Amino acid sequence: MTAQPTNLSGLDLRAEIDRLRIERKAVILAHYYQKPEIQDLADFVGDSLELSRKAAATDAEVIAFCGVRFMAETAKILSPEKIVVLPDMDAGCSLEDSCPPDQFAAFRAQHPDHIALTYINCSTEVKALSDVIVTSSSAETILAKIPPEQKIIFGPDRHLGGYLNRKFGRDMLLWPGVCIVHEAFSETELLKLKAQHPDAPIAAHPECPAHIVDHADYVGSTSGILNYAKAMTGDTLIVATEPHIIHQMQLAMPGKTFIGAPGADGNCNCNICPYMALNTLEKLYLALRDLTPRVEIEETLRLDAKKSLDAMLAMASGTVGQGDLGRP
Ligand code: SF4
Repeated sequence: MTAQPTNLSGLDLRAEIDRLRIERKAVILAHYYQKPEIQDLADFVGDSLELSRKAAATDAEVIAFCGVRFMAETAKILSPEKIVVLPDMDAGCSLEDSCPPDQFAAFRAQHPDHIALTYINCSTEVKALSDVIVTSSSAETILAKIPPEQKIIFGPDRHLGGYLNRKFGRDMLLWPGVCIVHEAFSETELLKLKAQHPDAPIAAHPECPAHIVDHADYVGSTSGILNYAKAMTGDTLIVATEPHIIHQMQLAMPGKTFIGAPGADGNCNCNICPYMALNTLEKLYLALRDLTPRVEIEETLRLDAKKSLDAMLAMASGTVGQGDLGRP
């Protein structure tokens, strides 16, 4: 059940969250797609792989996960002894929704000679049906370790899978899921923006469709895009991913200009993730105060899902902070 904001007027939410963080021995983890006010008070801000590793390594008693449900579930899978709270349990993901476990199991059964390499943006049940999980920052490293003759099912993001197929000459079978946020970028509007800023490179997340990725100077995870921005010599970057990542760029590089890639209406509002946006300071405060809504996972399911996550963490060793899928 999601904690419902009651009358919190008069409360200094930031001070209260700081007090509860100490009182509960809690760590606050936030994804780059969270609102700036949440990023600013988090103990750690990162991408899915970095947050998974933090969740596995923390000695906190409570993990307050500011992201979406599959991320909080991943934290619980890796740290079952900890209390994991998600400010809003309705914070789902279109990729997760696109891949119902029963349909994925049937698809696997049709291809018994394929292993399942699965993007972390999926349910715990689908993780349990998979062999190796990948994130956008670990996919390249992991795929390179799988022999070319091995047949692979890749799900649920067909754009990330297609990008990897094109880049590495693989022929992975793709599950037809998409991220509604990255799907919304407009090629026409992107090219108009590029014409206004001809010297600005384009950095794109591989969840974007090929018609966006094909125009990118750099393709990579959120942390990869952040590192690319830090390393670039120019002063302007066009960013084709969820625009809240720009907050970390502005903090790290106040002298540079970051422009969110546009959607079909010419602005980037349609590229704000509606699931990530459900988390608020009020809900985070209530989650820490009441230790609810909590993520709970049945133990057999957790252990089955943990195998594919452990495989990722072992195979991705050394990739944290690089976040780099390279240039297409
Ligand atoms: S940005 Fe896309 S992939 Fe990420 S949580 Fe939102 S809907 Fe899912």
